[in-house]
Amino acid sequence: MKPGIQGVPSAAGGTLQGKHAFVTGGGRGIGSAIAHALLLQGARVTLAGRTAAVLEQTARELASALTAGPSSETGGCAIDFVTVDVTSRESVNAALAEAARRHGPIAILVNNAGQAASAPFAKTGDDIWRQMMAVNLDGTYHCIQAALPGMLAAGWGRIVNIASTAGMTGYAYVSAYCAAKHGVIGLTRSLALELATKGITVNAVCPGYTETDIVKDAVANIVAKTGRSEEQARAELAAGNPQKQLVQPDQVANAVAWLCQPGASAMTGQSLAVAGGEIM
Ligand code: NAP
Repeated sequence: MKPGIQGVPSAAGGTLQGKHAFVTGGGRGIGSAIAHALLLQGARVTLAGRTAAVLEQTARELASALTAGPSSETGGCAIDFVTVDVTSRESVNAALAEAARRHGPIAILVNNAGQAASAPFAKTGDDIWRQMMAVNLDGTYHCIQAALPGMLAAGWGRIVNIASTAGMTGYAYVSAYCAAKHGVIGLTRSLALELATKGITVNAVCPGYTETDIVKDAVANIVAKTGRSEEQARAELAAGNPQKQLVQPDQVANAVAWLCQPGASAMTGQSLAVAGGEIM
């Protein structure tokens, strides 16, 4: 772990003032949009991922976005980062302990780190299967186990698991990813019941195809395998969305930020699709 960036101003008077949020996969895509949304609500945010240089760059960009904002958006919070590989319990325990040492117990955990591999089921070997489970499901399990004692001690917590519409329905050629994301939703529901009287909510946010590196990779894959143009490939991915567009990262982030609000305390065990009406 490298030392992070501390003392960066963020929102004053937000409803998450003083709460420490730990966002896995916070260096890019949906995770960095979530970090931004939580900072705007006054949270202190630790970004976590495997690549220190990316985390550091994103922390700097988020910090300057906030300091460039209207003065009503600035206060006295911090953004920081730690490196972590969520597939390793040891790495997760060390990263959360370091984050808590720097900024206090974690009140908000966003399990966003994920990977999406595609392959026909017949070609889905142990490597793809294990990798999808390790990152998407084991990673979520490891992080919750590390953060939960602090939330229980505080009597308050928000756990938001970024699953996918692939956790709510099936899609061809992504069976391992679908199985892992269905697992994340099962874990969300079960844990929500266990923690229902403890002041801790557990929810899943389920994006449809969202404009990030995951979609860039999917477009490249379609182009390489089918010979279609990039535009056709993107249109193909957007076609399943009734709004006929890719979801934007900040649309996912807004749902996460709302679930983290004190006023969302009756929302638990839910899976919110952010997918233009694809799932209802
Ligand atoms: P992305 O741009 O590829 O970002 C994935 C993030 O996860 C990166 O920050 C990456 O950082 C981190 N990560 C990957 N493996 C990790 C590991 N072993 N340990 C720690 N961090 C790891 O993807 P995204 O689209 O923003 O996806 C974010 C989440 O949304 C994922 O859970 C994904 O399944 C879900 N989702 C995405 C879509 C979509 O269409 N984009 C749709 C539904 C659900 P490092 O590589 O630096 O570790």
